[in-house]
Amino acid sequence: MDGLMLDGNAVAGLLQEVFAVEMTTAVGTCAACGASEPVGAVHVYRGAGVVLRCPHCDNPLVTIVRDDTRLWIGFPGVRTLEVAV
Ligand SMILES: [Zn+2]
Repeated sequence: MDGLMLDGNAVAGLLQEVFAVEMTTAVGTCAACGASEPVGAVHVYRGAGVVLRCPHCDNPLVTIVRDDTRLWIGFPGVRTLEVAV
């Protein structure tokens, strides 16, 4: 599985498309272990969709599935997301 893992910078374009702010420097706090890291430091797994996982405890933080016209975004494991405005 680690051979398929990238860091959060790999989904910078996708996140920029969804959020109107720079997301790789946004700081997320894991709901499972409480660690806070920039989105650029999370672990990214690509399959039928994209899963962003906590680099400390592997908790799934964000899930993203996309088709040609829509995105489905879940935040199953994010306690808070801090963005610069
Ligand atoms: Zn964690």
